[in-house]
Amino acid sequence: PRNDASPTSPSKRLIVLSGPSGVGKSTVVKEIRRRHPEVWLSVSVTTRAPRPGETDGVEYHFVSDEEFDRLVAEGQLLEWAEFSGNRYGTPRRPVVERLAGGDPVLLEIELQGARQVRENMPDAYLVFLAPPSWDELVRRLTGRGTESPEVIRRRLDTARVELAAEKEFDTTLVNTSVRDVCDELLALMFAPSV
Ligand code: 5GP
Repeated sequence: PRNDASPTSPSKRLIVLSGPSGVGKSTVVKEIRRRHPEVWLSVSVTTRAPRPGETDGVEYHFVSDEEFDRLVAEGQLLEWAEFSGNRYGTPRRPVVERLAGGDPVLLEIELQGARQVRENMPDAYLVFLAPPSWDELVRRLTGRGTESPEVIRRRLDTARVELAAEKEFDTTLVNTSVRDVCDELLALMFAPSV
């Protein structure tokens, strides 16, 4: 019998990596970029200012408020959300083109955006990145250094609510090892279609 699904043929999959703030989503994506530069990653637009070491067009497309307004008005974003005083969104066209070409797409976005993708693209596969433990999440959220106790308290309140979103997801990956999470994501993206 003939089997058309070769083990290396990518499935048409839209993988959404989301989870609580501070759980390490961007570290995972940075690791994929470093270890697998051949893997195409969606580049979001954001109104926040670049951090030291960030390059326009690599981590994000950095845009003005007016430019973001225009992208929203023209329907050019697949999803978008306001997070911590800035707006973030996924340009629609590159994602649709990749999927149409049979290539997998990975989005690393916060929870409100993940919910929009769930609504708009029912075939999307939602991956919840969970902290190894609550204590570890507290350590990560407070360990960034510069924030006031009030800001930290607010972040922890938010994190508690965000952790409850896990049940809306298709699967959970526990972020014990960045490498393992990367490997699992790549396995999902490049799993043979069935
Ligand atoms: P940061 O400013 O630390 O790079 O990102 C802040 C948050 O925005 C992170 O939780 C990240 O996952 C999320 N984010 C990045 N790009 C997008 C996007 O295109 N859409 C949404 N909804 N969230 C995003």
